[in-house]
Amino acid sequence: MSFQSELKRRRTFAIIAHPDAGKTTLTEKLLLFGGAIQTAGAVKSNKIKKSTTSDFMEIEKQRGISVATSVMTFEYNNLKINILDTPGHKDFAEDTYRTLTAVDSVILVIDCVKGVEEQTEKLMEVCRMRDTPVIIFVNKMDREGKAPFDLLDELEQKLNIGVRPITWPVNGGRDFKGVYHLLEKKMNFFAVNKTKLEEDIFEYDIDSEELRSKIGNKDAEQLQEDVELIEGVYEEFDNKTYLRGEIAPVFFGSAVSNFGVMELLNTFCDVSPLPISRETNVRVVEPTEPKFSGFVFKIHANIDPRHRDRIAFLRVCSGTFERSKFYEHVRLDKKLRFSNPYMFMADSKNVVEEAYPGDVVGLYDTGNFKIGDTLTEGEELQFTGIPSFSPELFREVINADPMKTKQLEKGVQQLSEEGVAQLFTMQPGNRKIIGTVGELQFEVIQHRLLHEYGAKCRFEAKPYSKACWLTSENPEALAEFIRLKNNFIAYDKDENPVFLAETDWILRMNKENNPEITFHTTSEFK
Ligand code: GDP
Repeated sequence: MSFQSELKRRRTFAIIAHPDAGKTTLTEKLLLFGGAIQTAGAVKSNKIKKSTTSDFMEIEKQRGISVATSVMTFEYNNLKINILDTPGHKDFAEDTYRTLTAVDSVILVIDCVKGVEEQTEKLMEVCRMRDTPVIIFVNKMDREGKAPFDLLDELEQKLNIGVRPITWPVNGGRDFKGVYHLLEKKMNFFAVNKTKLEEDIFEYDIDSEELRSKIGNKDAEQLQEDVELIEGVYEEFDNKTYLRGEIAPVFFGSAVSNFGVMELLNTFCDVSPLPISRETNVRVVEPTEPKFSGFVFKIHANIDPRHRDRIAFLRVCSGTFERSKFYEHVRLDKKLRFSNPYMFMADSKNVVEEAYPGDVVGLYDTGNFKIGDTLTEGEELQFTGIPSFSPELFREVINADPMKTKQLEKGVQQLSEEGVAQLFTMQPGNRKIIGTVGELQFEVIQHRLLHEYGAKCRFEAKPYSKACWLTSENPEALAEFIRLKNNFIAYDKDENPVFLAETDWILRMNKENNPEITFHTTSEFK
């Protein structure tokens, strides 16, 4: 197959959801359609469940699962579809944000009973920052949920995106009769796990006798009313507004019953974007360019603590990635080659000879990679758009075993490069402050420092609640601010100055009093 046809076949996306909305279940159904797995239950949830006493074995097991499920690939309709898995647990949200930098679109799963939840809003904010195209799947229609029109309003209001229903539910909960495809004018009758997926899908006019006799007068009238309202209120579905990230097509269904999923998948295949072009610090890279380029968006430590090697996940952005060929590691200005690059299937991993834009390859790494690192065929460029977000919890690392100072330093450094948490340095004394979004990240760090590096530490809570990256047109003003606020200034992994604010109020006061200084809540800004 030519490079062009390989490229055109690629679709790379992530499923995002608040925990328990049905992300794992939907992933599994999509893989079943693609024949990538044969039975339900084959996809392991990467959910980190926290018991009252921290169960580290459990976390270790979960880490294993999360390597296995990092990328899942399946074929459908002659497309090669890559699903990038995202941890749902809010303490690992940073990992999810970074994964979203490596996809071309997302499917958002909503629980129809709960509507838009906290984590949904945060994840969508990240998608909105980069105008990622979104398709929405309203799940659990077999349960009594919110009214569909109310859900649509809630989606628009809370997620700051327009919506356009493509399928529409006839009732819900115990009376759920199925979904009506608004564009194809077909009714798909609800049944749990239909053996033949095409079964029971009929084309009906919305005001036909047949439809009435099938679903009853009352439901037929309601559907007719709803459809009129939808056509009156919502604009016709337009692929371009979807691709610009302005309008999200909406589907209703029940993932666990494998119902309404095919409609979602078919539309996804029709409308979702091919591998998109990506920005770098010098120019935009098009996927069609013949020369290979890609960036690392995730690093995973080996779960065997005796080996400190890691797997770096690289998204191919342009050209063809080839096994055993030398590539330029731009930050280190070093040539590297990979004799065993992996590609991941639902339940296995295989060495690959070639990978194309949109693909994700797993590269064995002995400490060369940081999140955001770029590989090219020689060109000096760095992909951008892989920012750090302000953490919410800050703690200072205190060495608890003076004999192991070196190990601690190395461990903290490597774990932060892996993206387990953000590391900030404060003066005087090179104090190390770790920033996270959740408690669990601290536990993972402490545990891994001990087991992988033999270093002991404790954490001392710091009263900060936000980190803001600082810039100014006026270098003197910035230097003066840093001097005056020294007790609240830290430096990030790239030596950029950051202001640590204890409260929103303090942050606001500092902004007002220092108009020449700009405070950024992410590490990348234009
Ligand atoms: P995740 O946390 O988003 O990955 O959610 P899971 O896929 O693990 O699903 C959470 C729970 O919801 C599980 O018990 C599923 O069986 C259940 N679930 C998923 N889809 C549906 C559905 O369509 N209807 C109902 N009633 N339950 C569902």
